[in-house]
Amino acid sequence: MTSTKQNRNAQNASNSNNVTQEYDAIIIGAGMAGMYQLYKLKKAGLSVRVFETGSGVGGTWYWNRYPGCKFDSESYSYGYSFSEELLDEWQWSEHFARQPETEKYLNFVADKFDLRKDMEFNNKIEDAKYDKESKRWNIETDQGIKASATFLITAVGPLSAHVMPSYKGMESFEGGSWHTARWPKEKVDFTGKRVAVIGTGATGVQVIQEMALMAEHLTVFQRNPNWCAPLNNDLITDEEQKEIRASYPEIFKKCNETNGCFIHSPDERSVFEVTPEERDELYEKLYADKGFGIWVASFFDTQMTEEANVSRTEFIAKKIRARVKDPKLAEKLIPKDHGFGTKRVPLETDYYEAYNRDNVLLVDIRETPIEEVLPKGIKTSDKEYDFDYIIYATGFDPVTGSLNRINITGKNDVKLKDKWADGPLTYLGIQSSGFPNLFTLVGPHNAATLCNIPRCIEQNVEWVTDAIEHMRSEGLSEIEPKLESENRWTQEVITMGEMSPFMKVNSWLSGVNSNVKDKQTRSFQVYVGGAPAYREHCEEEAASGYAGFELS
Ligand SMILES: Cc1cc2nc3c(=O)[nH]c(=O)nc-3n(C[C@H](O)[C@H](O)[C@H](O)COP(=O)(O)OP(=O)(O)OC[C@H]3O[C@@H](n4cnc5c(N)ncnc54)[C@H](O)[C@@H]3O)c2cc1C
Repeated sequence: MTSTKQNRNAQNASNSNNVTQEYDAIIIGAGMAGMYQLYKLKKAGLSVRVFETGSGVGGTWYWNRYPGCKFDSESYSYGYSFSEELLDEWQWSEHFARQPETEKYLNFVADKFDLRKDMEFNNKIEDAKYDKESKRWNIETDQGIKASATFLITAVGPLSAHVMPSYKGMESFEGGSWHTARWPKEKVDFTGKRVAVIGTGATGVQVIQEMALMAEHLTVFQRNPNWCAPLNNDLITDEEQKEIRASYPEIFKKCNETNGCFIHSPDERSVFEVTPEERDELYEKLYADKGFGIWVASFFDTQMTEEANVSRTEFIAKKIRARVKDPKLAEKLIPKDHGFGTKRVPLETDYYEAYNRDNVLLVDIRETPIEEVLPKGIKTSDKEYDFDYIIYATGFDPVTGSLNRINITGKNDVKLKDKWADGPLTYLGIQSSGFPNLFTLVGPHNAATLCNIPRCIEQNVEWVTDAIEHMRSEGLSEIEPKLESENRWTQEVITMGEMSPFMKVNSWLSGVNSNVKDKQTRSFQVYVGGAPAYREHCEEEAASGYAGFELS
């Protein structure tokens, strides 16, 4: 008998011979979103069960244990804002916390609010089917647990379905190899080792700058360079700590007023109304400041039109040229096919300086593609490289990926994956018609993905909780968007997206990962109208008594 089967049988035995467990709500995922949703629904008096693939809470911060993993949101702007007590009790040590600290924080939250007792770990939901007779969702996990609930809430994460490339011979590699989002819990010692990193997105950048210091030799396989900017991280001083604690309400208020819910707001001047000296003065200041300022706090129009963005892009290119000693190498690290800020910007610490080191080599796989993985290393069209470790920083099947990996079947036997085959169809990025009582937190067409995500998670969760409480107080059993609401919202997402710089380049924000078969072309995954506008749409909908939905 296989170990999975053994596990399943043992689990079934402990589940009273395969009895279906019944709840008011089932939540899929125990990351930031699932944890808060559980807290809110328990408080509202519902019986709730969370199912989670991993063995602990934290989602992103449970899985991504690779060296160098950390925030690019300011720590104190990222944590939950809903509990003053929690804000008082927790203290972040760095402006941009590393993964171990964030995982510890989320475990602290789980303990504080006693969340773990309503969670089933090591259980991946594989099937979810709506039964229109009983008006309930029935789920089954990979361990054979069956459960049913009136409400099914997905909190599966926009960046949690990790993607491996499909190079020939990958399984033959004799050294250690991991995707960055499936990193082992045990410490790996890279001292004296030859390491390959494949991929130079936000994760690749974080792992490369760290690995350059740890490994004897590091080879970076780059397909597309990304525009990166300094994180300028630091420890939080006692003085800053006091200031942060005293200003939490203002921090969260400011976040909620900006499009991306970061603490940085755009400069209200147009880049064309200032002198070149004033322009460079702002760029220099933002480049030296902490976090995403250079991306989101620049002249407002740099994030709107290509023409306005030219000077900022040239400024960053100049910085890269100044930081990388070998001019030919610098050119390889400068993107030529898109402007700065048209993808989510990886923030770095001495990333460019890593390439000045003797132990770091860049291989441009557009020039010399990887042909196969060998037992001892990697073969490109040009030569063979030997490695002890291969690290796949190859990203995620974005936004819809983790939803598509569940077999979700709606009331008319239509699968969500099939309905969304040509792109998501949603109302407010939170429901889809034909799938009553299914709510998708941080789902496609939501503002959350382009956000300092927890700020939007809190909004999503609170809106869903209010909708469920409304139904319960009115004695209703089904909520589902009207088709015209869904068409209208989907069109709104497309119209906004067509004007956006994000939709003009391939990235996870435009739904592309070249390693995913059906994610080769751009699709409108994200509402780009900004979090405040999104929140307003949601509030209007609730205030109208959920007029855009069929309620019964
Ligand atoms: C390396 C990295 C750094 C990031 N840094 C930032 C940052 O600085 N700022 C920011 O705003 N955002 C950042 N993000 C985005 C981050 O994903 C969100 O901030 C946030 O953690 C999302 O929370 P979530 O609960 O929606 O999803 P996740 O944290 O992804 O949690 C989803 C959970 O659902 C579980 N799950 C999925 N499918 C199933 C299933 N079928 N059955 C059971 N369980 C399932 C997964 O195992 C996972 O634990 C980062 C992402 C990554 C990968």
